[in-house]
Amino acid sequence: MTIDTKCVQGGWQPKRGEPRQPPIVASTTFRYETTQQMADLFDLKAAGYFYTRLQNPTNDHVAGKICALEGGVAAMLTSSGQAASTYCILNLCQAGDHVVSSAQIYGGTYNLFNVSLKKLGIEFTFVDPDADEETLASAFRPNTKCVFGETVANPSGAVLDIEKFARLAHAHGVPLIVDNTFPTPVLCRPIEFGADIVMHSTTKYMDGHAAQVGGAIVDSGNFDWEKYPERFAGLVSPDPSYHGLSYTKTFGKAAFIVKATAQLMRDYGSIPSPFNAFILNLGLESLHLRIRRHAENALAAAKWLRSRPEVAWVNYAGLEDSPYYGLCRKQFEGALPSGVLTFGIKGGREKSIKFMDSLKMIEIVTHVADARSCVLHPASHTHRQLTDEQLAAAGIPPDLIRFSCGLESAEDIIADLEQAFAAIS
Ligand SMILES: *Cc1c(COP(=O)(O)O)cnc(C)c1O
Repeated sequence: MTIDTKCVQGGWQPKRGEPRQPPIVASTTFRYETTQQMADLFDLKAAGYFYTRLQNPTNDHVAGKICALEGGVAAMLTSSGQAASTYCILNLCQAGDHVVSSAQIYGGTYNLFNVSLKKLGIEFTFVDPDADEETLASAFRPNTKCVFGETVANPSGAVLDIEKFARLAHAHGVPLIVDNTFPTPVLCRPIEFGADIVMHSTTKYMDGHAAQVGGAIVDSGNFDWEKYPERFAGLVSPDPSYHGLSYTKTFGKAAFIVKATAQLMRDYGSIPSPFNAFILNLGLESLHLRIRRHAENALAAAKWLRSRPEVAWVNYAGLEDSPYYGLCRKQFEGALPSGVLTFGIKGGREKSIKFMDSLKMIEIVTHVADARSCVLHPASHTHRQLTDEQLAAAGIPPDLIRFSCGLESAEDIIADLEQAFAAIS
């Protein structure tokens, strides 16, 4: 099946007389006939639903569709993108472990790593993703457990060279985790370039209508945990909280997702509501149509903005003279990374803010990748907590406007930009 057909047909496969849409299973519990049947579920000896904090059928159908879209072997939904990032790291790391992360990542992920997970004793080294392989290799330590990066960084727009990062990670015997939120699997499938684990904030294009907050984790099944039994003891060695079961021995290629479900979901409980999973699935059914239109509108807006004398700079990797254009051609369908671009107005921070305040149709919201066009000023909003130095490292100048192109006509989007320029002139 093509990616387009998977968006429409993937996941829930009804049998005769069953509903065409995945049913919203609004039930915390599931019924069994004997004590033993339930005991086997608790021991992971049998597959089945018993409590929605661990697994729910609606969520699993939608995870199945995302798994098919990314080309993975197993997947799970989480209640937010933040929960997905947290689980990816905690499934591999504990106090005393180390992660190499691109510095060009979403502000929330940066805080999660640099503040909250650091408090748990996990250390992070943030690297410039555009650095050469030798420089990047020097960030690894004997206790490094994984590498993390964003296919297209939010908001800087930097494009990750997935093959380069996969090569580095694998040379050091650790997996590459990629946040593929911005391109979605329609425009890029990181597993095809060597990523081992892919995660998403489904809140963005996958939902696409600003209707639910959610996350997803997909495992490629390609990383051989048993090759490094000491480094990944949590996946390979017996788990005392499941009577000495080994995830890799019992579940093979599904080990990573089963462990994240059985341990992290059990203990931390970031399960999405089945209703939210249902809404997410409605978004996924048209993802292939929407993301291409988002990206085309972004390209049109980027070209138009660049022609304006008031604009200091425009950054959209899909522009042919972008330093990332070569990577775009290699990694993204149509060489377009997403529907998000950034730009700055001559006159700096103040003028950029004035421009944003003059927009009419394009709204100021803390969101991105929505059907409706919207803008955000990271230095005053999402990245408020960062110092100017950290802002620079994350690739965010103070005049940067993040512009998420919606599904309106390019004509109307450009008309709104035009009237805002007139208003600030
Ligand atoms: C929004 C976002 C997140 C966090 O997702 P939430 O669903 O808001 O928790 C993570 N990564 C990227 C790239 C994002 O854009």
